[in-house]
Amino acid sequence: MEYSQIRKNFERHGFTTQVFSTKEAACCYLTDILQNQTIGFGGSETLMELGLFEALQQKNAVVWHNKIPGMAVRKLANCADIYISSANAITETGEIVNIDATGNRVSMTAFGPQSCYYIIGRNKITANISEAYSRCKNVAAPLNARRLGVKTPCAVKGDKCYDCNSPNRICRIISVIERVPMGMKCEIIFVDQELGY
Ligand code: SF4
Repeated sequence: MEYSQIRKNFERHGFTTQVFSTKEAACCYLTDILQNQTIGFGGSETLMELGLFEALQQKNAVVWHNKIPGMAVRKLANCADIYISSANAITETGEIVNIDATGNRVSMTAFGPQSCYYIIGRNKITANISEAYSRCKNVAAPLNARRLGVKTPCAVKGDKCYDCNSPNRICRIISVIERVPMGMKCEIIFVDQELGY
């Protein structure tokens, strides 16, 4: 599906949208519109690939547990006015699907900040909720488990989800954002490149 139609579908669900051809252009856009803000980041390889923390930190207070690990930093990020995240998958029909281990990202994208921005590489776009869920479980989670070095079956075998009951299981909370949460502004920033998992 063309970006123009995907944008229409998200806009019908209350989101604003932008499309950029490069991660650098998306990064410039965000550094232009976000200044003198308190910003929390969700865990994300996409944000890392954009160098967004370093770029935004120059004119904002940015909190990210990928830079300083720990629950205390996650809690601090979850008090921010602005939240920036990617997603494990989105649908062409206008929904966002995320899986979390601690729940910091799914909670903050549902309630808390004034505004939430999602950076979405083209590899995250799926046709519908069922494909999005499958992508989360069989693509994103195994790669994240490997990155984190946990000994789950998906990380060891590296091919798919085994619906494990490992104490290290990273799939603990799943959220589907079907419409912008009441009282929040949400923007989808599409980047026409492969980004993150
Ligand atoms: S449920 Fe377990 S095996 Fe499946 S993706 Fe999550 S951590 Fe991996």
